[in-house]
Amino acid sequence: MGRSRILLIVAVALIAALPVIPGVPAFWIALGNYIGMATLVALGLVVLTGVGGMTSFGQAAFVGFGAYTTAILSTAYGVSPWIGLVVALAVTAALAALIGLVTLRLSGHFLPLGTICWGIAIYYLFGNLQITGAYDGIGSIPPISILGYPLASAGASYLLVWAFVALAFVLTRNLLDSRVGRAIRALRTGAMAAEAFGVNTFRARMIVFVWSAVLAGASGWLFAHVQRAVSPSSFGLSAGIEYLLMAVVGGVSSLWGAVIGAAVVTLLKDQLQNILPLIFRGTGNYESIVFGILLVALLQFARLGIVGLIEAAAGRGEADVKADGQTPVVVADAQPLPVRARLESGTPLLTVNAIRKQFGGLTAVNDVSFGVKAGEIVGLIGPNGAGKSTTFNLVTGMLNLTSGEVMFAGERIDGKPLREIAARGVGRTFQHVKLIGDMSVLDNVALGAHLRGSAGVLAAMLRLDRAEEARLLAEARRHLIRMGLAGYIDMPASSLALGQSRIVEIARALCIDPHLVLLDEPAAGLRHKEKQDLARILSELRSEGMSVLLVEHDMDFVMKLTDHLVVLDFGTRIAEGKPDLIRTNQAVLDAYLGGIE
Ligand code: ADP
Ligand code: MG
Repeated sequence: MGRSRILLIVAVALIAALPVIPGVPAFWIALGNYIGMATLVALGLVVLTGVGGMTSFGQAAFVGFGAYTTAILSTAYGVSPWIGLVVALAVTAALAALIGLVTLRLSGHFLPLGTICWGIAIYYLFGNLQITGAYDGIGSIPPISILGYPLASAGASYLLVWAFVALAFVLTRNLLDSRVGRAIRALRTGAMAAEAFGVNTFRARMIVFVWSAVLAGASGWLFAHVQRAVSPSSFGLSAGIEYLLMAVVGGVSSLWGAVIGAAVVTLLKDQLQNILPLIFRGTGNYESIVFGILLVALLQFARLGIVGLIEAAAGRGEADVKADGQTPVVVADAQPLPVRARLESGTPLLTVNAIRKQFGGLTAVNDVSFGVKAGEIVGLIGPNGAGKSTTFNLVTGMLNLTSGEVMFAGERIDGKPLREIAARGVGRTFQHVKLIGDMSVLDNVALGAHLRGSAGVLAAMLRLDRAEEARLLAEARRHLIRMGLAGYIDMPASSLALGQSRIVEIARALCIDPHLVLLDEPAAGLRHKEKQDLARILSELRSEGMSVLLVEHDMDFVMKLTDHLVVLDFGTRIAEGKPDLIRTNQAVLDAYLGGIE
């Protein structure tokens, strides 16, 4: 049994035992309830902020939606709290989807600012609407009943609250450990790469946003029926800051941080409310000041929170949220994924016609034309700044053309979104490696197979995706083994040397089952033997009918491997033809080869 599993059992036993230990003050149980309810919100924030990279100060508003929905239904309409739960979660999810549609397209600091805005606006909404009881709120909310037995005391609610926490943990962990989860985990540092492999990153952001809101809504539902009264002050901006603080204190890189953070902040708040009024001689929300300072300090000096500090002390690196004590999916006997029918060797696959890209006054790619046939390796060479990487970005849809056209397998693809071009069978690597450092090598590569699976959020949460997941992971594993990286499969991608990262990117590109792979300087940073292995694999792939467009500076590598070469200089094609002819072409010698050979 692993250390984390023992810790888990001890933690669960402690939490479950609290109400039955004789002599435990009722006040502790009540605090335990608040910690549990706050954990639900903090858990959502860990996923939203820590994993998804979206900072929200407005999470308390979603708690409010859940709380007010059930409060109104159960007081004004006499509806059972359990029906109230369903409606509360649906209302919260729907409103989150609406708010998400408007806010999630904001980038950088504008997103957190946006969350502050609606966090404040919704607080005033609760405070001014008649139906929510204005600033007085709603009282006399009935308790939740289970089998006719009302959970009227704190002790009676306690197990329900923590059962919700446990369920939320399981569902969230399952979600992150899935096809959709890989997309979510790519959001913070690898959104562009994810898009290049067919992930709809906006959709992935929406999924995280709505799920974190649903968790907050569930917390609100519990809050309304445990507290038996709701008022706007529980759902304002300062509450939103407290929830975010919990996620940050605990550590945004681990789901466990949510419990720890919720406990620390709840207990701290309780103490501060006793102490601060004595210091400042008067009443007021002084703890908000302390929390604000604490939040900034933590973000500045201990971004990974308490869990991060513990892990650093225990000698572990940045935690992979998914990796904590997960049982791996069995992949050994997974059904292989279906593959695309290859085009007949020699048919035109990629044709670029006079493509042009201007960055302001600079023409990075100047009316360049060339073609790649099925089963062919074409090299795109030229000095630094010649426009090679830009050409890749134009072909894959990462950049829009200024003019010209790109045909792929007989259809125009220029102007189509990145994801759609990927779906047609275009895989690529990046000159500046774009792996997700805190994700395992295997998961990074499996992201490349995103489009070959279809399991969604519900299937992931309920673990109905295991057969498909095993197939995706087996595919990723197969490519890693073929590329000679069997020993690195379970390591975080950040632990790889640069050369290895490039090879991992090739494995990821192969996972999309491409007709064409675009490799941007794949041999850079490799040793001689590794280059030979790479060349062998690439020519194997060619004989399997795959096409390769290759940018590379190692001329020995290029000349031996390619069928055809295109030479760029200052964005212009200065020559093309068989490698042997290019080698002796005077224009090419002058512009490029003369300098390196
Ligand atoms: P290569 O890959 O052949 O070394 P690039 O395609 O990266 O060259 O760059 C071609 C030219 O375009 C360079 O002068 C580079 O500075 C410029 N360039 C590339 N990307 C951008 C960009 N996003 N904005 C402005 N200029 C760019
Ligand atoms: Mg380049």
